[in-house]
Amino acid sequence: MTEYEVSCECGKTIPVEAMQAGATITCPCGKPVQVPKLSKLRRAAGQTPIPLNVVEQIRSLIRDGQLPDNVSCPITGKPVDNTVWLHIQCERIDVRHGEPGFWSNIAYFFLIGWIWFIVALLIKEPRKEFGHDISVDAPLGINHAASGSITAASVRTLKAVLAHTPIYSQLLHEYPAADVWVVDDRPQRRGTLHDRTD
Ligand SMILES: [Zn+2]
Repeated sequence: MTEYEVSCECGKTIPVEAMQAGATITCPCGKPVQVPKLSKLRRAAGQTPIPLNVVEQIRSLIRDGQLPDNVSCPITGKPVDNTVWLHIQCERIDVRHGEPGFWSNIAYFFLIGWIWFIVALLIKEPRKEFGHDISVDAPLGINHAASGSITAASVRTLKAVLAHTPIYSQLLHEYPAADVWVVDDRPQRRGTLHDRTD
């Protein structure tokens, strides 16, 4: 799937994918071409710099009852008679540089004395957060025969299964490193959906 394009000095336009953002590719003319970061590619293509809108689109489709929209089970190919919820963790907040630990303050106390101990308590390294915490719960229609296999499926398989739904495919395309797991496996544990009470 190609969404973006970059141009080479030679005048050629080269199609690129979101996954290639930041990489260096080679033009058919032989020259290396630096692919800009994703936010730049998105802006050039007339999209919002942060692809959060896909997450919002999914949430609004769920609210409107338009998801799941698949009629056949992506695993068995049989008709859909059950819904499984998959958590898609697109990006996690990466926290670095916490407060200095208790023992380092104790060490300062013995090394430099109580004045430094007070100073050390006052000087705290700021907590820094990198990235955004972006995640969404995505419902997927399956056939009950696939319940067991989807609960035991690998992240790779879950992604492949989700990719059958265009909007999920778009999300996974924008977040290739996303983590996916089954969040609602209760109907599967019971083995059947006939006793569901919702
Ligand atoms: Zn070229």
